[in-house]
Amino acid sequence: MAEIKRGITVLNRFERIHVDDENVCRHCMAQLRRVYKGLELSPEELELLERPRRTFIVSFPVRMDDGSTRMFTGYRVQYNDARGPTKGGIRFHPRLTLEDVRNLAYLMALKCAVVDIPFGGAKGGIIVNPKELSQGELERLTRGYIRAIHGFIGPRKDIPAPDVYTDERIMAWVLDEYEKTLGKSAPGVVTGKPLALGGSKGRSYATALGGSYILDEALQVMGGLEDSRVAVQGFGNVGANIARILKENGYRVIAVSDSKGGILDEGGLDIGEVMGCKREKGSVAAFPGAEKITNEELLSLGCDILVPAALSDQITEENASMVKARVVLELANSPVTVAADDVLFGNGVKVIPDILANAGGVVVSYLEWVQNLSGETWRRERVIGRLKRIMGSAFREVYGICREEECSMRLAAHLLGVRRILEAERLRGNLR
Ligand code: NAD
Repeated sequence: MAEIKRGITVLNRFERIHVDDENVCRHCMAQLRRVYKGLELSPEELELLERPRRTFIVSFPVRMDDGSTRMFTGYRVQYNDARGPTKGGIRFHPRLTLEDVRNLAYLMALKCAVVDIPFGGAKGGIIVNPKELSQGELERLTRGYIRAIHGFIGPRKDIPAPDVYTDERIMAWVLDEYEKTLGKSAPGVVTGKPLALGGSKGRSYATALGGSYILDEALQVMGGLEDSRVAVQGFGNVGANIARILKENGYRVIAVSDSKGGILDEGGLDIGEVMGCKREKGSVAAFPGAEKITNEELLSLGCDILVPAALSDQITEENASMVKARVVLELANSPVTVAADDVLFGNGVKVIPDILANAGGVVVSYLEWVQNLSGETWRRERVIGRLKRIMGSAFREVYGICREEECSMRLAAHLLGVRRILEAERLRGNLR
């Protein structure tokens, strides 16, 4: 473990968890425990990694269409800012918890470090089912949340972006409310904006495109899979785009799903038509001419590449042994639980971890922020060219550690991310 020892003092301290401490991320601790099993960080390093720097819980009123007022709860967690302003999406979900947000913020900090962009990690969200709200209610909800947190975010402080059930239309409201509240123009306060408001070309499909570059690199070193069959869970921004891109690249996408269920066609789905069906009827499950399957069945299909692109904790200890794919490309954040990761590893399934596989979104967000700060607008080719170079170089660094340490890609990616964060903390004088 030469590479690791250079960056991290070795000492066994994993038994120490502050179970009574409200501001410790237990999920991150479980990951650290799993990822650094047998390695160990110094007590100072461990303590620094297990605690988010700032955690905001806000309650705010929203006027509903029927004239009533409802209170909503939102979160923003700024996990670590040693490498730069914090960066991370806003999620709208009825079952969102503070623990989820902390874990996602931690992963953002690692992700930005793995692809070596000058950001720390954050995440935010609101406990809400956006499907139950009208357009007007959704807009007032978004604006209420931004009014509640506007003092904590900013182009040089903390920069939100889209995540589950939020999109560029919502990012436009985020920008507008922030600028109204502060009375100045600050397009760099949020990324994933519409092009007309300072968004970047390529941002809308960057996560999926970045994932496809990583998959290409991985298959080159692992040995390509002839006529690969792909199954994609989730058909939103990330899922629909990866299905489209992989089909364009010659893969056979045999199954896709969304929250209402999935579809299977062993001969390969026409993704353009499935996208049309999702647009018109609200779900891929309404697609005619393909076999209906459940989300659970999709995860255990006989395929070569499985792409979880929906929510966290989809592959668990219970269903991990049923995964038949050779490669799991994690485009969702944390789709595989810590226990399931061990099962997949034991079964020889190659997992390409979230903090590498889905980093394309934050990379193009970074390029959008650079354009906003410099007042420039780049051509699509320039954005995509830089995305490809950054993703390729991150893959090679992670894979190099993987070979040197003879470890999983997840362990290698976490080691790289943690080492870079700790190096920045050390240079700032926060660690010896
Ligand atoms: P989205 O809201 O556009 O789409 C989410 C999709 O998941 C929808 O199709 C929804 O129907 C589906 N879904 C929800 N519950 C499901 C379930 N139980 N089973 C199957 N499908 C279900 O969100 P997105 O932006 O595509 O994000 C998807 C994942 O990718 C999330 O984990 C997110 O954190 C991660 N991610 C997104 C980005 C980005 O740039 N948008 C970047 C990095 C990571």
